[in-house]
Amino acid sequence: MKKYNFNAGPSMLPREVIENTAKQCLDFNGSGLSLMEISHRAKDFQPVLDEAESLIKELLQIPDGYSVIFLGGGASLEFCMVPYNFLINKAAYLNTGTWAKKAMKEAKLFGEVVEVASSADANYTFIPKGWTCPADADYLHITTNNTIYGTEIRKELDVNIPMIGDMSSDIFSRPIDVSKYDCIYAGAQKNLAMAGVTLIILKNDKLGKAPRPIPTMLDYRTHVEKGSMFNTPPVVPIYSALETLRWIKANGGVEAMDKLAKQRAEILYGEIDRNKLFRGTVKEEDRSVMNICFVMNDEYAELEKPFFEYATAKGMVGIKGHRSVGGFRASCYNAQTIEGVEALVQCMKEFETQN
Ligand code: PMP
Repeated sequence: MKKYNFNAGPSMLPREVIENTAKQCLDFNGSGLSLMEISHRAKDFQPVLDEAESLIKELLQIPDGYSVIFLGGGASLEFCMVPYNFLINKAAYLNTGTWAKKAMKEAKLFGEVVEVASSADANYTFIPKGWTCPADADYLHITTNNTIYGTEIRKELDVNIPMIGDMSSDIFSRPIDVSKYDCIYAGAQKNLAMAGVTLIILKNDKLGKAPRPIPTMLDYRTHVEKGSMFNTPPVVPIYSALETLRWIKANGGVEAMDKLAKQRAEILYGEIDRNKLFRGTVKEEDRSVMNICFVMNDEYAELEKPFFEYATAKGMVGIKGHRSVGGFRASCYNAQTIEGVEALVQCMKEFETQN
């Protein structure tokens, strides 16, 4: 039976990305050695890094004056590296969910943190609006897509200070205005690659301003200066990122990804809103097109487990909602197909008819 992967991360990748990466794991560039057993300093690996970097700059239209690096440690390490490197006196954070809160917690170790707004009291079911940023803050940190709750900031915010964006779960799904950011970071395991690498985009002239000694490995300058080769980089995840970047380019770039994401979301939210059994969990205007969260309507609450079992038997994988929301979450990252979303909608329709 065909499986449809709605995992929240690690998540679905394009089939050809997996196949091409697997081939290189068996025999890297005809060398007779696996990608896993070559040195990161082998002459064939530098072109992988270079091409990945140049595709990222091209796809996201990154202006001059920015660097692109790959690090280990996940997006979670960036929660600490960001304030270590960028917080001088005060930082502003928009609290839109678990990951934003975790980022804020680390920042408090380094200076004053202003929470500009929060939707915590409403279990993060919306993106707060109408707040202001302290003009003297060094940056505003935002989480552009809230993976757990299914809300998203899909339109560039208009703020008076530079932003830092955790784009772990929506990078490469739409065009972004990089010039508004001093730093963008993203764990790879949703829209970019297998787990194990984090992509970081940095505005060069904002580095080296923090008034504290920074351990070498946690100083962004180390990795910029050494081209992500200060220590051994995660070679296989970076290679899989390169394959995904090639795939995104071949499939029309981030504009095409954006269009597809909206199409998938329209199909699925359309069914959630139509079907008597289900309802969405977040404010409509803030709905994520990446993580689509829904629950049973109250009068059908007892059907949650039976629907999960029904959909699972039909090949749906990873649709259980995060424990802090409950219900269901269908993650629809770039590799998700219209066919996959239609298969889930079909399950929802059939289940409605039977109940
Ligand atoms: N930020 C966001 C928006 C996420 O979705 C996640 C992981 N799901 C993280 C940060 C943490 O990422 P990692 O596991 O790579 O540390």
